[in-house]
Amino acid sequence: MNAKGLPEGGTCSSEEERPRHVFHPAGGLHHAWEKRASGFCIYNDSAVAIAHLLQATEAKVVYIDFDAHHGDGVQQAFYDEPRVMTVSLHETGRYLFPGTGDVLEVGNGPGRGYAVNVPLEPFTEDDSYSEVMNSLLPALVLSFAPDVIVSVHGCDTHAWDPLTHLHLSMRGIQAQMRIAHHLAHTYCQGRWVALGGGGYDLYRVVPRAWSMLWAEMSEQPLPAHLPEEWITRWRPAWLAVAEQEAGEEQVMGKVAAQADFPTTFEDRPEVFPAQPRRLSISHTNRRTAALVRQLLVPPSVRHAFPSARRQSPMTGMFDLLHPRGSETPSRSKILETHKGPLLLRDFCPPSLVERLIPDSGLRAFARLPEREHQLLLTIAKSPDCALTLAHTPAGEMVGEVTLAFADDWWEGLENVYEVTIEVSANWRGLGIGYTLLAFALELDTLEDMILFAMGLSWHWDTEGLGITPQRYRELIARLFASQGFVEQATTEPNISMEPANILLVRVGKHVDQHMANQFFSRILNSPNLSRW
Ligand SMILES: [Zn+2]
Ligand SMILES: [Zn+2]
Repeated sequence: MNAKGLPEGGTCSSEEERPRHVFHPAGGLHHAWEKRASGFCIYNDSAVAIAHLLQATEAKVVYIDFDAHHGDGVQQAFYDEPRVMTVSLHETGRYLFPGTGDVLEVGNGPGRGYAVNVPLEPFTEDDSYSEVMNSLLPALVLSFAPDVIVSVHGCDTHAWDPLTHLHLSMRGIQAQMRIAHHLAHTYCQGRWVALGGGGYDLYRVVPRAWSMLWAEMSEQPLPAHLPEEWITRWRPAWLAVAEQEAGEEQVMGKVAAQADFPTTFEDRPEVFPAQPRRLSISHTNRRTAALVRQLLVPPSVRHAFPSARRQSPMTGMFDLLHPRGSETPSRSKILETHKGPLLLRDFCPPSLVERLIPDSGLRAFARLPEREHQLLLTIAKSPDCALTLAHTPAGEMVGEVTLAFADDWWEGLENVYEVTIEVSANWRGLGIGYTLLAFALELDTLEDMILFAMGLSWHWDTEGLGITPQRYRELIARLFASQGFVEQATTEPNISMEPANILLVRVGKHVDQHMANQFFSRILNSPNLSRW
């Protein structure tokens, strides 16, 4: 047991220890509310299990809901609970029960920022689903730093499911379990509770999906073919259902009984030809994921986990300024403080970051100093990012500024870069932030760029500071104003949905007017607003 009352260990399971992974296929009744049953669910076993963990231990829990329907009951149960992050990937509520699960449902009070909703377009297929999932889950789990993962594996996301419009094959469903398993081992010492959930193609999808999940958890190889005995037993039952449906042309927009009974775990690709609107569906899903990233993933974590499609037109520019791996040293400067001298260095190469260690107070974004170190190392390795550090002569990092190509949300705009800054809680009030930011942004090359810094109140770790988000907002505004940043009014829901949120922008001296106009027109006419 560790200090939080949780068992330690990192393996899937072992003889002597209790297993690290638990599977309850009959669970995952995610729609039930505290005082009412809903959507085939009488009791919400997921919520009860999480509530038990909160009572019995000091653990933080991330709940990941892969069912095609929004996990409304679990979200509601922990909507103002900062120890639980609920993440639901589901078909948009525009057409499907229970109708909730909008991106802007982000939690309430102390739980603000810890409810994550990813509403996907009807007829979303494997590749788009995986792209969205991969661009969000690792970054969210790293930044929340949970101790346990509870996941719901409703397999009604499958193209054959009669109740929903998502269009995954077994490949997409397998990707869900693999990422949950990977995240459990990477961030939670293997602690993983997997639950069943929905799934209404009882013969062709549910048995395959949950056998696959069990094989994933217990690390057993899947056979090339489904057992002959099983096919012989269940194929007639499915045929009877298919015959009943033969008179109906479509069920929920899907052609009824369109395929054979499967004989393998994998779906044959020819059974699922590309959906007619594949491109526009993928595009809309990508915009949704971009908004979720912008809203709920802290900026430097976004920089360390760029989405796959993000490509800076200025890739290589940072390398030109300071060739990595060469002997060209970073620029450096000495800053004298009451606590001793600090060394400031820009364009820090990974080899330098590896040699340094983070001060215990440097953990606003990754919550644990060792993960913050990993994060900074990843940022240092990225060709799209520049990392400026303040460290002690002994090698303790106490402050960082990252400069990174703007995330997917700013797609279509050129030369837009995001700036973030963090100073260790143990080194605040010494003026380090001002000097470090000035040092990081003083190169003339940066005058070709539009720089912005975004402050969302739920990203700010203001508890330890003993100040309100509003006060913190003032401090950030003043800090960035010292480097020519101006607060901008915007219709971006990121900013406009909370009084303490802020967008600060500096348009470089060499930026042409057309580019600047394009940027300002975007932040004042958010294409996103028309969708909500
Ligand atoms: Zn495992
Ligand atoms: Zn469902």
